[in-house]
Amino acid sequence: MSGMDVAVVGAGPVGSALAALAAREGLRVELFEARRAPSADGRTLALSHASRECLEEAGAWPAADATPILSIHVSQRGGPGRTVIDSKEQGLPALGYTVPFARLEAALAARLATIGVPIHYGRACESITLDGAGATLRFATGEESRARLLVLADGGANAGKIPGITFQEKDYGQQAVVGSVKTDRPHGGRAYERFTPRGPMALLPVGERYALVWTASPQEAAGLVAMEEGEFLAQLQERFGDRAGRFVAVESRASFPLRLRAVNTPVALHTAIIGNAAQALHPIAGQGLNLGLRDAAVLAAAIVGAAREDLGGAPMLSAYRDARRRDASRGVVFTDMLVSLFGDGRRIPTWGRGLALAALDLFPPARRLLAERMIHGAPTS
Ligand SMILES: Cc1cc2nc3c(=O)[nH]c(=O)nc-3n(C[C@H](O)[C@H](O)[C@H](O)COP(=O)(O)OP(=O)(O)OC[C@H]3O[C@@H](n4cnc5c(N)ncnc54)[C@H](O)[C@@H]3O)c2cc1C
Repeated sequence: MSGMDVAVVGAGPVGSALAALAAREGLRVELFEARRAPSADGRTLALSHASRECLEEAGAWPAADATPILSIHVSQRGGPGRTVIDSKEQGLPALGYTVPFARLEAALAARLATIGVPIHYGRACESITLDGAGATLRFATGEESRARLLVLADGGANAGKIPGITFQEKDYGQQAVVGSVKTDRPHGGRAYERFTPRGPMALLPVGERYALVWTASPQEAAGLVAMEEGEFLAQLQERFGDRAGRFVAVESRASFPLRLRAVNTPVALHTAIIGNAAQALHPIAGQGLNLGLRDAAVLAAAIVGAAREDLGGAPMLSAYRDARRRDASRGVVFTDMLVSLFGDGRRIPTWGRGLALAALDLFPPARRLLAERMIHGAPTS
């Protein structure tokens, strides 16, 4: 059986970033991915400024495919209150960036190939055995591997099999309908977050188009994905209004269920759990991958700083757990709070949301706090 220093299960963006940041001379790091080939996922990710810095450090920032977000316009349909968060007000070249998911994965895979870290595609991990010296992985192919440190970055497929790991779970009973839409006006780098009585909608600038995220009930979502293009565009216009111009085309519609799922602790014997495997959030605040990349950066620093024989040991893992506790729980609470406040029109009356938006517009410190959470992941003061 082959033995390695670090085995990463899941070559999504978080597992791949961890491997790119942690790999160093003389350390054997390998990735195991259930998919047979790199992802063709059509979703667009909004990444914070801090995530850009993390990916640059990993040598995998897909600069040619990134669109800067220069301002975010937040409003609600059929009610008062609006606010604009502007990159100039925050003293930054951009509030964040949008990147196509598949382009980000391609940049990370290219970087891993350059530095000689293998991704084993078509290797779905089926079972895990942990002992005092490391982890044994068994794959659907029948093969086995052993590592001192197991990093679970599989989006949540295996964490429930680890003794001591439990989950906090919440089903929001909503789906996110996504797609690529075109309007008759240039976006000028502006993103929109719009709260409607039936749930939030977001438009994110990507290239010459927008990525749409439209939350809807499961039944409505199925209808929106299946309906004829003209009717979809008419419904979108009716729900979103004309702030971004007239919607003229839509492509690549799909829907995803919206849930909160977070582990009670991100560590176990010789194991660290990162990214969506540790916390899967509602995309309302665009926090999921940003939080996952911070998991990757902190764990990579711990791996780089550890002697080989200490990899996966209790002192290293408890230091990682303590370093991530505050940020991870704040990300979960912040996103859940936004969903409660804005995610479901039935919970808070329109005037209540109007008040929250007016407060943000009137009090620059409150807006700054929201912007800092979006840009850095946590208020800096
Ligand atoms: C509609 C939508 C919009 C979003 N928008 C944003 C956004 O704007 N900004 C943001 O920050 N986040 C956003 N997110 C969240 C973001 O997509 C996730 O946080 C991110 O993909 C997590 O990356 P990951 O690498 O942890 O997990 P994943 O992307 O889930 O990758 C896990 C990998 O593990 C592999 N795998 C699974 N099981 C196994 C197994 N048994 N063995 C081996 N490999 C396995 C999978 O094939 C996959 O490649 C959004 C999510 C959704 C649904």
